Amino acid sequence: MSERTLRFKGAIRLAELGLQKDLLQFFFPELYRNPVIIEAWSRRKVQKNFREGVWWLCRADRDGSIAADRAYRLFKELFPNLSSDNFSWHHLLRWYDYFSLRYETTEMDVNRLYFLIKHIKEYKVIVKTDCKDCRKPYLLNSDSTRVRCGICANKKNQMMSRKVELSKKVKLESETKQPEQARA
Ligand SMILES: [Zn+2]
Repeated sequence: MSERTLRFKGAIRLAELGLQKDLLQFFFPELYRNPVIIEAWSRRKVQKNFREGVWWLCRADRDGSIAADRAYRLFKELFPNLSSDNFSWHHLLRWYDYFSLRYETTEMDVNRLYFLIKHIKEYKVIVKTDCKDCRKPYLLNSDSTRVRCGICANKKNQMMSRKVELSKKVKLESETKQPEQARA
């Protein structure tokens, strides 16, 4: 397949996935006005994207932090030596496809992936190299001090809330037993 055909196919796919218009223009200046690309974009998968904000990866009680950490680790696995300056549309597409394949049930958006790299480059998102529990790298908002990755933080939160539930149950049972004990 020629380079031109590859680019055309890539542009169609990214348009279908809902890559925002200014990014289509940025990656495909010669193609973004092509009627086929415009038509693909009009039936895009993501009508309203989450794009630029970093809120989605900042809270450990949201799925966003899990998705962000998974995405970052996968990025490093696929392109271990790629600098963000060389990040291109074909990296974006390959990354998105691998993510969708591996984490079928985790919602992801090509715009999110693009902006993740952009924000890391601009230090709006910080890469931590060592989660307290699993020792793997993870991502944080610049104002967050979380010491665990999103995946471990979520696990811990779930464990804590199970403990609280359990202690409530034990307390309730001991309270309902008390009158009997008082009679004895
Ligand atoms: Zn972890």
